Amino acid sequence: MSSGHEAAFWADEEVKLLQPGRPHVVRDSKTPSGPVPISGLRGPIISDALFRTFKANALDVRFVYTIDDYDPMDSQSMKERAGMAAHMGKPLCMIPSPDPSVGTDFADYHATRFIALFAGLGITPEFHRMRDLYRSGALDKQIDLVLRNAETIRAIHKRVANVDHPEGWLPVAVICENCGRIGTTLATDYDGTTVAYECKPDYVEWAKGCGHKGRLAPFKGNAKLLWNEQWCAQWDHFGVTYEEGGKDLLTAGGSRERSNEIYREVWKRDPPPGLQHEFFTFGGKKMASSKGIGAEAVEIVAIYPPEVVRFLMLRTHPKRHLEFDPAGMTLPRLMDEYDRAADAYRGDEESDLGKTWRLSQVSPTPDAPGFRIRFTTVASWLQIPSIKPEAEAEKEKGARLTDAELRDLHRRVELARAWLERWAPDEAKFEVLERTPDVELTPEQRRYLSAIRALIGTVHDAGEMQNQLYEAAKQVGLLDAKGNPSQDAFAAIYLAFLGKPNGPRAGWLLLSIDPELVRRRLDELGRAP
Ligand SMILES: [Zn+2]
Repeated sequence: MSSGHEAAFWADEEVKLLQPGRPHVVRDSKTPSGPVPISGLRGPIISDALFRTFKANALDVRFVYTIDDYDPMDSQSMKERAGMAAHMGKPLCMIPSPDPSVGTDFADYHATRFIALFAGLGITPEFHRMRDLYRSGALDKQIDLVLRNAETIRAIHKRVANVDHPEGWLPVAVICENCGRIGTTLATDYDGTTVAYECKPDYVEWAKGCGHKGRLAPFKGNAKLLWNEQWCAQWDHFGVTYEEGGKDLLTAGGSRERSNEIYREVWKRDPPPGLQHEFFTFGGKKMASSKGIGAEAVEIVAIYPPEVVRFLMLRTHPKRHLEFDPAGMTLPRLMDEYDRAADAYRGDEESDLGKTWRLSQVSPTPDAPGFRIRFTTVASWLQIPSIKPEAEAEKEKGARLTDAELRDLHRRVELARAWLERWAPDEAKFEVLERTPDVELTPEQRRYLSAIRALIGTVHDAGEMQNQLYEAAKQVGLLDAKGNPSQDAFAAIYLAFLGKPNGPRAGWLLLSIDPELVRRRLDELGRAP
C-alpha cells in the first residue's frame, strides 16, 4: 500500500518555507582567508539552485553574497607561510596581496580568484564586501543595537553554547589604532558614542596584541561585530529570508543556533530558515596527501565543464554526505549519470532527475539536450590516433552535429583528455600496438582469431561487428558454463592488438584500426606457434 506521501524534489520543499507576496533575499558568504577547496562550491551552487527555483515559483527574490573581508586573519596554515606571521590578527582586507595584479589586498586576491568562477558556473548573486558596509556606516545602526544589548547577548552565548565571556565584554572588535590588529582587542564600556578597548598580547592564541589601550567610536569601519552578531546584522541589513549553510556551522550549540537566538531576542524577529548541507570530501585521504593533483576550486573548474561541476553538487541530496574521487572510474560514472539526467529531462522536464539536469545548466532556461557521445567512448577515441572525434560522432549520429552538440563534444574531449592524463586507471588506458605482442593464447583463442579474419573488410558497422564476434565465439566453442561466448574470446582480440586482456568495445576497436594491420595480426596469431 502506498504511504500516500511522495517527498517533493528537495528544492521544491524549500519553496514552501517562503511566504508568497513579499520580497525575499537568499544569502551566502565567504571569508576570503586562503585558497578555496572544491568543496567550497557546494554551498554557492545549492544557494543558486534554490534562488532559481524560488524565482521559477514566482517569488520576488534577490541573491546576496557577502565577502566577509573584515574578519581577522586567524588561519594556522597561513601563519606558517613566509611573511604572514606579522599579519596575524589583522583584518583580511588590510594584509598585502600575494599578487597585486590579481587583487589589491590579501582578501581581494582570494575573493577575486574564487568569485571569478561564479559567472562561468552560472551563479549570479549581488556581491557585497563587508569592508564597504562597515566603512560606509551601513551597519552603524546594527552595531549600536548590539552594544546596547551586550549583556543579553553574553547570556545567550552562555546558555546556547556554554561560552563564557568576561563581565563588561562587548561583542565588537575594534581595529587597534597602534598596530592595526582586529583579532586581539577586547572592547568594554559603551557610552552610546565610544567604547574602551585594549589590544591584549594574550587574548588569542593565533596573534599577539601590542598592549595599546584607547577609546574610540566603533562606527564607520573602526570596528566590526563579532561573528555571530555580524551574521544577525547582515540578515537585518539585507532583509535575509532564506540562508542555507554547511553542517559544521549549523550543529546544536553551533554558530547558527547562537545567531538565531540573538536575532530572536535582540532583533525580536524570526531568523531565516534554510537547509543544512552535509560535508563534501573530495578524493579522501589519498588525494589530500598526493602531490600534483589539486583539489582547489579554481583547478577543478578549469578542467571540469561548468554543468558537470553543478551536477556533481546537485545530484546528491544536500543533506547527504557527498564523496567524490576524481581518480578511478568515478568521473565516467558521473558522466553516465549526467547523460541519464539529460534523457530524463527530454522525457519529463518536471521529473526529479530532469529538474536536476536543468539546475545543472549554466543558463536557468537551457535548450533541451541534444545528441551526446558517452564519456568512456570519447576516452577510447582519444587513444586511437586515426580517430577524428567530430567525424566519428557524426557517423554515430548519422547526421551533422548541431553547434550545441559540437560544443558538448569538445568539452567531453577536453575532459576525457585530462582524465586520461591525470586520473584514469590502467584498465581504461590502451594503445594499439604497431608490432605483434608476445602474448600467451590457447589453441581455441588462436582458432577464434583465425575465424574472425573473414569479417574484416566485409562488416562495416560496429554493432553488427560486435554481433558477428559473438557468433564466431559460439562457432569455435569459446563458451562459458551457461553457453554464452566466454571472456576468453574478446580477451584474445585485446591481447592481439593491445597486449592486455581488456579494452573498449571489441567490434568498434577492430573497425577503428587499419584493416591491413588487422588481417596481418590475425594471420600471425591465428596460426599455431
Ligand atoms: Zn595593537
